[in-house]
Amino acid sequence: MTGAAHTSGEPAPQTLRELTALLADGRQRMRAELAAFFAGPEFDRTGEEAGPPAAVTARAYARLETVNRFVHPARELLTDVHRLTALHEWAAVTDGTLFAIMTSHYNLVLAGLLRRAARHRDLDPVVTELEELRAAGVFMASEIGYGNNLLALETEARYDPAAREFVLHTPRPRARKFMPNTTVNGVPKLAVVLARTFVGGRECGIMPFLVRLTDGRTSAPGVRIVPLPAKPVLALDNAVTTFDRVRVGLDALLADERDQLAADGTLGGLLRDKTARFLGSIENIEGSKICLTAGSLAMSRAALTIAVRYAGQRLTFAPGRGQVVLADYRTHHAALAEQLAATYAMGFLFNDTRAAVARLRESGRPMDEATIRQAAISKALTSWNTREVLEVCRERCGAQGLFSANRIMDYLVVNHGVITAEGDNEVIMIKAGRQLLDEPDAVLTGTDTDTDTAPESGTGTGTEAAREDDVPAAGTGRWWLWLLGRRARGLRQEILAGLRAGERARGSVFATWNDQVAQVRQLAETCGRRSAAAALFAAADRAADPAARAVLADLAELYTLRCVDEDFGWFVGRGLLGPKEAADLEVRRGGLHADL
Ligand SMILES: Cc1cc2nc3c(=O)[nH]c(=O)nc-3n(C[C@H](O)[C@H](O)[C@H](O)COP(=O)(O)OP(=O)(O)OC[C@H]3O[C@@H](n4cnc5c(N)ncnc54)[C@H](O)[C@@H]3O)c2cc1C
Repeated sequence: MTGAAHTSGEPAPQTLRELTALLADGRQRMRAELAAFFAGPEFDRTGEEAGPPAAVTARAYARLETVNRFVHPARELLTDVHRLTALHEWAAVTDGTLFAIMTSHYNLVLAGLLRRAARHRDLDPVVTELEELRAAGVFMASEIGYGNNLLALETEARYDPAAREFVLHTPRPRARKFMPNTTVNGVPKLAVVLARTFVGGRECGIMPFLVRLTDGRTSAPGVRIVPLPAKPVLALDNAVTTFDRVRVGLDALLADERDQLAADGTLGGLLRDKTARFLGSIENIEGSKICLTAGSLAMSRAALTIAVRYAGQRLTFAPGRGQVVLADYRTHHAALAEQLAATYAMGFLFNDTRAAVARLRESGRPMDEATIRQAAISKALTSWNTREVLEVCRERCGAQGLFSANRIMDYLVVNHGVITAEGDNEVIMIKAGRQLLDEPDAVLTGTDTDTDTAPESGTGTGTEAAREDDVPAAGTGRWWLWLLGRRARGLRQEILAGLRAGERARGSVFATWNDQVAQVRQLAETCGRRSAAAALFAAADRAADPAARAVLADLAELYTLRCVDEDFGWFVGRGLLGPKEAADLEVRRGGLHADL
């Protein structure tokens, strides 16, 4: 499925090599090693769908042991973002339950403990225990009453200075921990529990605590674990967990305040901003999102591979031609080409995000706001895209798309986990959009050359574009890309104007915000899409092989056109596009479908 056709109808080997190398962003040997590892008998899924959920869960934990032996010592894995994300790609396409427990263990628990152990050597034995997988790491943030609004969670940790211990307690039913994989099922579990902390009767914000939950046979004293009902496909051992005055030592506190408490039994002037402390508690989630994104992306690629192959083989009737393969039908081909273009765009957005995270990890610096935002946008756009890809691929494979052997239906469920867990897509996009309101234009448009000309109505011919500096020629792929940046700037102006108007009208803060929140989310979406399209255009520019360059440029343009098309009404309303551009877009999109 590429216009860069070799004589056999397949792309030439050098074109495939170049596309693969660009997508993989190097590290081919590491990827080949992982591919060989996941082809091993431990990951063979033949006949697996027949097993009861508990057996599937047990198999996932057994596979985690196999993975852990392969990557040992995990501390090296955690410093190598390329390998870590590639591992999650393979886990996601192989076993969704493994993917979920793996990311908790390595990213949400072990990564944070390793950082802390650098300053508190007493944590070394726990780190070793987790590295050797003598216990699985579990991250416990969500409560029955608090999912997206974690800042309000109610689990308490009250400091007892005489005993130099914290007392962990679930004060009311809605404060029970909900979802973490804590079920007592033969696997010892060591948890990082987020709790509202009180010292000397004063509330000090949310902090993380290390808590031993179960030795695998029975739950620890004061810990009550009730398994949650089954979910289709994801055989995660999710549960509801209650703490009844569980005592943990001061050394269980995984926050900087531990030293101060150890020194003088009070937090005194050390009390930081509670929001900052909360954000510190969930820092591991921010670092982990990139692994969920990697898994989501891998699932969309796997489904597309199946659907494209099916389209190339499956025969159907054709007027005047007897039979043709499905891919010969423009409707079928276009549907897959659109998903392919979007998935390539997500792939290169992911590569840029991974590079940003890798740079920070290598320099030992924590995630900054811009990188956290980039990782959030990348996760949301990718997993939303994957949801659409999976729906389309399932349908385009007919009945075959439903069978477990093809895994597309499994991926749908696993990808829904990505959409909701570690920062619900909708909520993290609104947060990202909120931050983008304060960023300079260059961040919104990915360039510092665009001028901030106010839109004028009624041109519909790209005349506004012609007045601005460095605007690509109208109708070119780069011009459509420029339009996405233009929309980002326009949205921001409109949101800020709306917020100011709300303030002047003295409406409630919530009513004012609520009037703008949909556009705020669209701002993040537009900026993310623009970045993804730009990353794909940049990849085309980097390609040395002419056929690879051509196909990447076509995919970039197709993705960009689709993004503009989706919000065409907005562009028309601001006089940036009119009937001529609508017709051009349609023709060009059809041409790209034919080329690809
Ligand atoms: C597979 C899986 C594994 C998980 N594992 C863990 C784990 O290991 N540890 C753990 O602590 N938790 C875990 N969770 C829980 C997860 O973190 C929460 O599900 C997530 O935070 C969302 O919370 P919620 O389910 O209560 O959704 P809700 O908060 O009830 O949200 C429901 C809907 O409302 C929307 N919404 C909510 N608030 C807003 C808002 N302010 N603005 C706009 N829209 C909003 C959301 O977008 C969503 O569509 C897991 C969840 C899943 C699905």
